Formats: sequence, structure tokens, C-alpha cells
Amino acid sequence: MFRVGNGIDFHKLIHEPFRPLMLAGVEVPSEYALLGHSDADVLLHAVADAILGALSLGDIGQHYPDNDASIKNISSSIIVRKCLSLAKEKGWSLVNVDCTYVGDLPKINPIRAQLISSLAAILYLPEDCVSIKATTSEGMGALGRSEGVMVMATALLEKSKN
Ligand SMILES: [Zn+2]
Repeated sequence: MFRVGNGIDFHKLIHEPFRPLMLAGVEVPSEYALLGHSDADVLLHAVADAILGALSLGDIGQHYPDNDASIKNISSSIIVRKCLSLAKEKGWSLVNVDCTYVGDLPKINPIRAQLISSLAAILYLPEDCVSIKATTSEGMGALGRSEGVMVMATALLEKSKN
């Protein structure tokens, strides 16, 4: 038995050399950063929402409201791991994830292998079950003007054997 979920997330890009730009749990060298209440890891947020979606457990904003001071600057890997434990409690385990990053800044092609390795470790998955693709909006709209980035993610869950 399988269940699929999708997630989508946007974060605004700001010129902030002293705030780390986090993607898939990796601190990406950049003079820009993503704005958000947590560490603003847009890729992990999309993955968390995809897992919650497969479980029909609402969305990340319900579990981690952005007015909750206790989670300010929280590492988003903690959020994703929490979603995985919710899945486990209900008898589901993650099979694979597929993510699509849309943005011009930062370019992720040069660091894609590093992002996949980090995401696989956070998800306890082999690297060949973790996909991160990248595209641009061809200069159109806010993403094309590098005002922010977007990530879409799909997660497949399988009913655990035991
Ligand atoms: Zn987010």
C-alpha cells in the first residue's frame, strides 16, 4: 500500500551576508539569504509538506506556526525528522522524494550532489531515492527577478511491513 503527497514552498531572497542561506540542510555560500521564521530552508519545508500531505496530516504551518517564538530560527531538519516520526507512528515509511527547485539565485547545479547527500541523510534514505532537480522561470515574474525561490516536492510513502 502506497500514499503520495506533494509540497510547495516559497521564500523571499534578501541581501544579507551574515544570515546563512540554508538549502536541504546545507549552508550555501552566498551573500544572499532566505527570509523566514525558521532557518527558511525552502527545500526542507517543501519535503515536510509532501510527507504531511501523504499522511493527510495538514501542513507545516499547522504543526509549526510562524508566530511560535519557541521555533524561531529552528533547523528545518528537525521539522522534517518530526514529520518522519509522525509517519512512523502511523506505520508509514518513506520510499523516495523528488524535488524541483525554481530560482536563478543561488544556482544549485554546482552543489547538487552535496544537497542530495544532505537530504538523503536527513531522510534516512539512500541517495538514489532522493532527487533534486533545478530549473528557472526564464526570467518571468518574481522568481525570474530573483526576489525569491520556490521548491516543489513529491514524497512516496509505503505501509511498513510490521
Ligand atoms: Zn517555508
